Amino acid sequence: MKIALLACIHGNARALADVLSHARRKGAEEIHALGDLVGGGPSPLATVKLLRRNEVRCLAGEWDVAVATGKPLPPGACGPAGDAAQALEETRDALDAASLAWLRSLPAGTRFARAGRTFALAHGHGPRGVLAADVLVLGHLHTPSVARSSTGLLLQPGAVGDGPEASYVLLDDQALAASVERVLVDVRVPATA
Ligand SMILES: [Zn+2]
Ligand SMILES: [Zn+2]
Repeated sequence: MKIALLACIHGNARALADVLSHARRKGAEEIHALGDLVGGGPSPLATVKLLRRNEVRCLAGEWDVAVATGKPLPPGACGPAGDAAQALEETRDALDAASLAWLRSLPAGTRFARAGRTFALAHGHGPRGVLAADVLVLGHLHTPSVARSSTGLLLQPGAVGDGPEASYVLLDDQALAASVERVLVDVRVPATA
């Protein structure tokens, strides 16, 4: 089965819509979003609605936690340049109570086993030492990469919502073949929720 691995959408619903279409065309049957779903981008509410409507399996990043709880961003937060406190406030104001509650409900990481292999997914902000698995997937770094080591695969999807080119990783969970996919986002067309 093909799995699409996304991260760092940062409230860019236009880019998310384009990536979801691209991943479906490529045959993805399951989609995971590894946090920083909102924060810093123009359309957080449309982003949350798109994720929920498409049954994307979501984790929380540091932006999601800060937006949903009102706590400040921790040091080393990724995301768009600019005034982070203002971006947090604008994002919080743009979301409804149901979306904030949904963000608060998201786990920081997930693990599962398939075909005898273990998969661990996390946003990747903070310590990473405990995440041993055959396939480790981390967001947070906005640069995509696919690396194979003696212990397995390390996949970093990069960012969906950072600039005109979005990236994600497509993984075949049987063959353990993974590729970085790049999508030019058509910024002229607004995404609808
Ligand atoms: Zn990010
Ligand atoms: Zn992050």
